[in-house]
Amino acid sequence: LVAFVMFLFFLVLPLGQAVHAYTQLQTGLGALARIEEILDVPVEGADDRRARPPALPAGPVAIEFDRVGFGYPGGPPVLHEVSFTVPPGTRTALVGPSGAGKSTLLALVERFYEVTGGTLRLAGTDVRDLPRDVLRSRLGYVEQEAPVLAGTLRENLLITAPDATDDEVRAVLAEVNLGHLADRSAEGLGVQVGEGGVLLSGGERQRLAIARALLAGPPVLLLDEPTSNLDARNEAALRRAIDAVAVRRTLLIVAHRLSTVVDADQIVVLDGGRVVAVGTHDELTGTSPLYRELATHQLLVS
Ligand code: ATP
Repeated sequence: LVAFVMFLFFLVLPLGQAVHAYTQLQTGLGALARIEEILDVPVEGADDRRARPPALPAGPVAIEFDRVGFGYPGGPPVLHEVSFTVPPGTRTALVGPSGAGKSTLLALVERFYEVTGGTLRLAGTDVRDLPRDVLRSRLGYVEQEAPVLAGTLRENLLITAPDATDDEVRAVLAEVNLGHLADRSAEGLGVQVGEGGVLLSGGERQRLAIARALLAGPPVLLLDEPTSNLDARNEAALRRAIDAVAVRRTLLIVAHRLSTVVDADQIVVLDGGRVVAVGTHDELTGTSPLYRELATHQLLVS
């Protein structure tokens, strides 16, 4: 192709201009190759394996880890044959020492990364058969360090539910004990938060993120609990917020608090990327030395 274009240049242009045009063409082709290189990099990998993704049932659905293995790209395996099921509408807490793989499990449900072994299913469907937008429309994800945008309280909440009314926003704020933010000044929901506005504490930031998740109304919620110590009022408010989101939802929580695990229907104990015990608080206290150790020394007592 380049030779043919060059031939055309020499036919129609004087030599000097043709050489100049050729140089530009080469530069352009080089740039094009680089752009292609960039565009060709699959940011999140290929999407739906099926042309027609299966429909997901409405309401809370099960999350099922079936011998799931995973390693971050270029890194060693961090999860090995992880198997457990979060039944629809129930609460499962993940506990384990730092680096055990708890947050990674949430990232896999969101398909931020793909499993490298076994199968991860939502409502019985392999998540790789669900386009990411379909999958994520069913999931709420509350990170440990929830971001607060510079802007108004209303703007911060409408990110996940642009059509929510002020009444809906206020109702959700009350549910997570953040009603006071909108009552602080005449600006109401228009009060500036984040950079240049009301600064929120760690506990308030996470409750704001929970409020976002509540507004979007996903039937499945993934929650990475904050590791920081909260004062008693914030602690109680976080408890109530988690109780509020747990109603009629499937909940998978990375837990750092004893009160969270005590309330869970099921606790999964991870160590070194493996499931080492599954049960309720009372069962595990009797059967799992690692759980007893974590409950005594690592989980925040509150
Ligand atoms: P913590 O309680 O400290 O948050 P965790 O149990 O949630 O720990 P993960 O964050 O899931 O553990 O990490 C599991 C393993 O994967 C660790 O060895 C960690 O270093 C590694 N890891 C986590 N995130 C990444 C990443 N983005 N890239 C490469 N390795 C990672």
